[in-house]
Formats: sequence, structure tokens, C-alpha cells
Amino acid sequence: MRGFAMLKIGETGWIEKPKPVAGPYDAIVAPLAIAPCTSDIHTVYSGAIGERHNLILGHEAVGQVVEVGKEVSYIKAGDRVVVPAITPNWRTLQIQHGVPHQHSESLLSGWKFSNDKDGVFAEFFHVNDADMNLAKLPNEISLEAASMMPDMMTTGFHGAELANIQIGSNVAVIGIGPVGLMGVAGAVLRGAARIFAVGSRPKCVELAKFYGATDIVNYKNGDIVQQILDLNHGQVDHVIVAGGNESVLGQAVEMLKPGGTIGNINYFGEGKTLDIPRLAWGCGMAHKTIYGGLCPGGRARMERMIAIVLAGRVDPSKLITHPFKGLEGVEKGLNLMKDKPAEVVKPLALI
Ligand code: NAD
Ligand code: ZN
Repeated sequence: MRGFAMLKIGETGWIEKPKPVAGPYDAIVAPLAIAPCTSDIHTVYSGAIGERHNLILGHEAVGQVVEVGKEVSYIKAGDRVVVPAITPNWRTLQIQHGVPHQHSESLLSGWKFSNDKDGVFAEFFHVNDADMNLAKLPNEISLEAASMMPDMMTTGFHGAELANIQIGSNVAVIGIGPVGLMGVAGAVLRGAARIFAVGSRPKCVELAKFYGATDIVNYKNGDIVQQILDLNHGQVDHVIVAGGNESVLGQAVEMLKPGGTIGNINYFGEGKTLDIPRLAWGCGMAHKTIYGGLCPGGRARMERMIAIVLAGRVDPSKLITHPFKGLEGVEKGLNLMKDKPAEVVKPLALI
């Protein structure tokens, strides 16, 4: 089968590999829609997970099941499914001990696609623990909307969950790429009052308003912390961090009220340490909490994403700015993500 792969750090290309084989609990899926991600760019061009050779990329997919293992009973060949980016091994004792499923075997072990096995940018891909990881896609939902569930929706919403947003609270969302935009939508779902979206690209600003941001804060107009303090007449209750470098957590702490919560879903690719401003953190006594997490995966989580779209609460398909036809579209999409012209939010390849 053909797949689009990381050949080595800094290099991608098409390769041939044998079709994967399903173990007793697994499924083999053929993609219907696949989306390149900022994380694929980090993997290939920043060496985020270290060197890999001929590793098929991609972890955001909707597909059709072509084969299931002998112990799989809920999922059948022919089913159209949403495939979460995070596909934990649910049969671990750690989960019974309360370890988050994202880390059920070891740190970040739930992230398998294009990390410790081939990803979804191929004619076929392998899904572990199919009954517990795959969600059946209802016919009413478009492939465009469904393809934003495996990572963009679940990650952005997780930012709102980690920030512990309460009804009527004021929230800042730093970074309004596709993840931050779903953070804005998640803040709305959790009942935020004002939502300050920090970003500057016109397409992202337009979408932030569409998803429910009440205020836009542009770093080009001055220090973002001061702008938010001025607009909000003080610090905010919660911050979602979905973009920025090592200094962004410090900004989040500065704009946050004592007792407030930060939900970080951003990937920090550089620096040995992350700085927390001592005084703004009350010299350690401000009751300002920082949570950071990998997006939730698994079937139940994807079924919740499906429920939200079915109920008409959020339309994630608006994130797709660059649709392509065919498997080859992932190469075009990934190159777009790499070069990042201002109008790109999310590319998609429809197969
Ligand atoms: P993106 O690059 O499309 O969006 C990030 C946005 O943040 C960009 O628009 C960028 O201009 C903006 N930005 C950068 N520095 C900023 C700053 N200092 N202040 C405000 N905005 C700033 O990426 P994305 O796909 O939306 O993903 C966002 C982050 O989430 C990335 O770091 C990505 O790796 C990470 N991510 C995490 C998970 C997870 O499970 N936790 C999953 C997917 C993506
Ligand atoms: Zn992704």
C-alpha cells in the first residue's frame, strides 16, 4: 500500500509498505478524510519525537473499516468511523489506578499514530482496541465536520475542561489556530461570559467571532496582558493556552485572577524550563492552577463529539479552509501547514 511518510527529520515522501494486519482486538481502516496537523509539522521538521525513518504520518482520520480482529464485536467491516488521534490500550491496570488514559502505559502512550506506529496518511491503517477506540459516524454528519473530531475538537474542548471554565466566567484564549478556535467553542459550551481571543490573522479572527469570542486582542496593538486587563477591568477567571512560545505561560499567569485556572494544550517545543512569574504567582501562594494535557481519545469521547455536532451546538467544518481531493491531498495540505500562509486554518484530504 502507499503512504505519505516522514523519511527522516526534515524530509517527507511517498513510500510503499505492506498492508497492516489486525490482531484479535484491532481493525484495519481505509481513510475517507484525513487532515494534516501542526503536530505533523513538529514531528517532521522540529524532530519533536526524535528521529524516525519511513514512518507514515497523520493522526486525524475518518474512515471505513475493512477488516476486524476475531475478538471485535461492536465494530464491523463496512462501518464508517471517527478515529481518535489518541487510541489508548484500555486493558491496562494503570487506568484502574486512575492514570489518565492518554498515559495508560507510559507518558503519552495513548498517542500511537505516527509516533510509535504508522499513521493514517495511507491507503490503510491499523487501529488498536477497535471496540473501545472507534465511534460509528452517523450519516447526518459530513466528513468535513467528522474529520475535525479526532484532534481539533477534542483538544480545544480539553483546553476549556482543563481551564475548568464556570458559567458566567471570563476567559482568555491565547492562540486562535484551529485548536484555539475549538477552545473558544468549548468555552461557549461551558457557559463563559466574555471570551477574549488573542490572535491577529483575519481568517482566524473571523472564525473566533463565529465560534463565540466576544473580544479580539491583537498583539500588534500592544502587550496582550495589559490589553486584557484593560478590556476586562482586571484579571480573567480562566485562560486557555493554545499557541505561543515558552513565555506564554507567564503571560497567562499574569492575566489570571487569584484562584483562577489555566488549561494548557499548547506544545512547548523549546527550552529546558518554562518560566512562571514569581510575583504574579503570588510567590507561590496565589492559588493559580496550571493544568496541561494531551487530548482525550477513545470511543466514548468521539461519541460525545458526534453528539455535539448532531445537536447543532458546534459546526467544526468551518475550520477547513483548504479541501483537497484524493490521498495525494495530504502532501499538499502538509506543505501548506509548513509554509502557513495567513489564510490557512486547516487543510483536509477527501479520499
Ligand atoms: P496553529 O499553529 O495553527 O495555531 C497556533 C496559533 O497561535 C497561530 O495562529 C499563531 O499565530 C498563534 N500564536 C503564536 N504565538 C502566539 C502568542 N504568543 N500569542 C498568541 N498567539 C500566538 O496550531 P494549532 O493546530 O491550532 O495547535 C495549537 C497548539 O496545540 C500547537 O502547539 C499544537 O502542537 C498543540 N496541539 C496540542 C494537542 C494536545 O493534545 N494537547 C493536540 C493538537 C495540537
Ligand atoms: Zn493533530
